[in-house]
Amino acid sequence: MRTRRGICYPKVEMGCERLTVKRRRDFDGEPTNRRKISKTAPETAGDLDLFDELPDDLVLCVLCKLSSTASCPADFIHVLITCKRLKALALQSIVLSKASKKMLAVKAKNWCESAERFLKLCSDCGNIEALYTLGMIRFYCLRNRGTGASLMAKAAIKSHASALYSLAVIQFNGSGGSKTDKNLQAGVALCARAAFLGHVDALRELGHCLQDGYGVRRNISEGRRFLVQANARELGPWLVWSARAHHGPGACPLLSDFGCDVPAPEAHPANQFLSEWFAGRTCGPGPGFRMCSHAGCGRPETRRHEFRRCSVCGSVIYCSRACQALDWKMRHKAQCAPLERWIDEDGEHELNGNGDIHGDVEVDDGDDPMIES
Ligand SMILES: [Zn+2]
Ligand SMILES: [Zn+2]
Repeated sequence: MRTRRGICYPKVEMGCERLTVKRRRDFDGEPTNRRKISKTAPETAGDLDLFDELPDDLVLCVLCKLSSTASCPADFIHVLITCKRLKALALQSIVLSKASKKMLAVKAKNWCESAERFLKLCSDCGNIEALYTLGMIRFYCLRNRGTGASLMAKAAIKSHASALYSLAVIQFNGSGGSKTDKNLQAGVALCARAAFLGHVDALRELGHCLQDGYGVRRNISEGRRFLVQANARELGPWLVWSARAHHGPGACPLLSDFGCDVPAPEAHPANQFLSEWFAGRTCGPGPGFRMCSHAGCGRPETRRHEFRRCSVCGSVIYCSRACQALDWKMRHKAQCAPLERWIDEDGEHELNGNGDIHGDVEVDDGDDPMIES
């Protein structure tokens, strides 16, 4: 922010800053050529600060740019607390409506009433990232299913791909309700919309739905086409990553369906919040409820046995095919050990994939059936 000094603008006679050159001597008594700027506060001098002369629309323009490009909430908050004028302008709806998802990426450990109020304020200004983030937090963390789903729906109406996909996951699982609340057709329709907007997980989910005839008429060739598209979109960031030679130790290789090492996709801040939220609680999502085993997801079960589990080892569960596919390639492929059968915590035999669960998510032979060969 240069608005304080306004060095980009024509020089104005301020009279509040005087440059004095003093001869100073070092420890040996030799004169040095250091200059010292003696500054007098404009308030005490009774003169105008150049910042006060900047028109509001210009400051708003700068704040909009800052809010849409900030890499963390602190970037914005530091400006907000600088002075009353900046605070008043920074809270204008035009600024909040442009806030990026990283600017709204509140940490779970910092969650408080004022954080929720700020997200709500941004949501009310029409910020779709705030609508989605707050919707996910309310739905899964605060268990306020109604308002959470409503906020996500508002973001989905405005074509927010992640919101569309999350609502699809809710419909596929009947999250927040009972098994009878599953609506596969609605899930496929939401997935199709998110896939149209280029959402990779939605493309993959839709591909498998079409291949398996799950919630939609079976069409194997069309399903394969969506899976190819999902892989092509995964490879895009990898090409940029590879071209820039970012092969540092922090990179997490993900074997794509085409056998290329691509970096793992960055989780949305809402998913990161969910993971942190439940990791920081001793009882997790609640007694008998478990988390999706894909590390980048963070979705918990909203009722017992809601998510589907790996039919080979039975030790991992997933909210969706997309999570299973990613986790399989990044981690579970090396860990999955076949078991003839398993017994859940209640001593009941688990379904083998043909029961109430989305059977096509099951792993039958130790090889991810979703991976195209
Ligand atoms: Zn998941
Ligand atoms: Zn397994």
